[in-house]
Amino acid sequence: MLRRRTFLGAALVVAGLTFAPGANAADHPKVVASFSILGDIVKQVGGNLIEVTTLVGANGDAHVYQPTPTDARSVAGADLVIVNGLGFEGWLDRLIAAAGYKGEVTVATGGLEAIKIDEEPEHDDDHGSEEHADHAEKDEHDDEHGHHHGEFDPHAWQSVANIRIYVANVLASLTKMDPANGETYAANARSYLSDLDALDAEIHAAIDTLPESRRKVVTSHDAFGYFGREYGITFLAPVGMSTESEASAGDVAKLIRQIKAEHIPAVFVENISDKRLLQQVARETGAVIGGTLYSDALSEQDEPASTYVKMMRHNYRSLTAALGGS
Ligand SMILES: [Zn+2]
Repeated sequence: MLRRRTFLGAALVVAGLTFAPGANAADHPKVVASFSILGDIVKQVGGNLIEVTTLVGANGDAHVYQPTPTDARSVAGADLVIVNGLGFEGWLDRLIAAAGYKGEVTVATGGLEAIKIDEEPEHDDDHGSEEHADHAEKDEHDDEHGHHHGEFDPHAWQSVANIRIYVANVLASLTKMDPANGETYAANARSYLSDLDALDAEIHAAIDTLPESRRKVVTSHDAFGYFGREYGITFLAPVGMSTESEASAGDVAKLIRQIKAEHIPAVFVENISDKRLLQQVARETGAVIGGTLYSDALSEQDEPASTYVKMMRHNYRSLTAALGGS
């Protein structure tokens, strides 16, 4: 009873007494996760002790998401909000303000060693050519337009090792919200971490079988930097870390030249992106379409990537099948 009273008290403070009525509305803490991959991780740690609402759902693109009134209601009634961070959810601050949410916002990537972005300004490009390579030392703090594009690559979930950090942050946050169930959350986390360790070893073993010369693929946007760094594959894409900007004709022409020059064997479409551009790139280069990679969202339940573990397994198996590993 003590646990429930503590929790209900927190809920009332957070929700400003607008807590939705319902049969068992107060039975489980309400946790909002910003996107589907994170939602699954939160569910793995929270088990059946929490009620998880995911804002950007299956096959959704969080980069360009437009929150709905339903999202604002979910956030207003939440006991805890958990986000990826690293600039992934650009719409989040406005949503939290609009919802009047005053509770905890946990950043799941807190403390993680993020990849820094050396991002190009968006406007340079129709003259098509080689000047791209020389901007590596760009100061990530400033931007000629006076706004931040984000200093870090947000797609940290694409390395299983990073999910250990997500799990630790989620565990700490759930335990703080609901200390009476801390032991159960910790046990759930331990069990999930052992699944993740097995998955990580499985991916390393599979990618290690690929010949070095074939470890280059093209995807729709730069979502696989962490996968590449951890497992040893180079990913190229016609657009950058965010799907907000469209590829210019110059970007696409450059990519096509690169695929031909480097004999890049495969092109992958993504579940969250329009497939037509990459289909065109495949036609013009003779690269095969290796299938669909799940980049920024899980699949629907009846598709092959409905959990984080299934998603990573689907992705590495698609890569090894297209690149000739075992
Ligand atoms: Zn992305």
